[in-house]
Amino acid sequence: MDIKELQNKLKEFDKARGWENDWNIKDLLLNITEEGGELWDLIKWIDTEKQKEVIKEKKEEASDYIGDSLFILLKMANQMDIDAQKALNETLNEYEKRMPPEIMKKVKHANKHAGGIDNKQKWQI
Ligand SMILES: [Mg+2]
Repeated sequence: MDIKELQNKLKEFDKARGWENDWNIKDLLLNITEEGGELWDLIKWIDTEKQKEVIKEKKEEASDYIGDSLFILLKMANQMDIDAQKALNETLNEYEKRMPPEIMKKVKHANKHAGGIDNKQKWQI
């Protein structure tokens, strides 16, 4: 099932419950922040290697986080009438241009503030 089909499945899920006209992006944003907090609670204050171990041990909880977050994101996309599959494709296409692999392998990071190079300015010209 692709993203578009999942988005439609979610529309049907809401419709079956009489929620098709509910609209509250602010609450959904708070929901997704809460989901991030749940994942953070698993790995807070520990180094990267230990984080990998914890996620491996608590794979089911991590999977719940991914599922819940995607559910909320697709619900937001439906409410805003946004094609999530198209949006993700456009984001990937932009990132491919902004972050060429040959440059990113050298600088390790796209964020200029973290010492990397972001070709956003160059790309927009
Ligand atoms: Mg959750």
